[in-house]
Amino acid sequence: MTIFCIGRNYIDHAKELNNPVPSEPVVFCKPAGAILRDNKPFYYPSFSKDVHYEVELLLKIAKPGKAIEEKKAMEYVSHIGLGIDFTARDIQQRCKEKGLPWEIAKGWDYSALIGDWMEPNELNTQSISFSLKKNNTVVQNGNSSEMIFSFEKIISYLSTYFRLGTGDIIYTGTPAGVGPVSIGDRLEGYIGENRNFWTEVR
Ligand code: ZN
Repeated sequence: MTIFCIGRNYIDHAKELNNPVPSEPVVFCKPAGAILRDNKPFYYPSFSKDVHYEVELLLKIAKPGKAIEEKKAMEYVSHIGLGIDFTARDIQQRCKEKGLPWEIAKGWDYSALIGDWMEPNELNTQSISFSLKKNNTVVQNGNSSEMIFSFEKIISYLSTYFRLGTGDIIYTGTPAGVGPVSIGDRLEGYIGENRNFWTEVR
């Protein structure tokens, strides 16, 4: 099982981190050991002093695929969900400055929070609104219609390079508003008005 992640998929988020708006998706992966499920607490890692939340829509892959055409891409999606791509921003910044890969900033244990899965036909996939609350205040708001690269484009692009497998998960990028978490924070993710996950930072 592979966790693929797309970076800089919302113009406002690319700008807030002073990154160029990409002409192709930015791709990285997290290991399976990164998964955090069932509203379990998130434990602040000892190696970072600047862990950020990034709320993102997730896709779960239904069946194996390679070189998938955009027009058939949604046939490969079994579920849509919401999660947090926890990021050690201080480590990521050091990696970026040295031109190094991001894995230690992004792929550490329990850095991939995953909420409840929904069936694609429960949603209008062209316009899924989602948000993140920190301590009862909305800190991030997004909509799938605002993505630079659509679900279809992401699946087609990834499958050019990687065989997609049943159960693979794709983090589709975060909108603007990323920020730090602190021990004691409570994070809650919403798809539309429905709470999809919550966690406490310990
Ligand atoms: Zn992300």
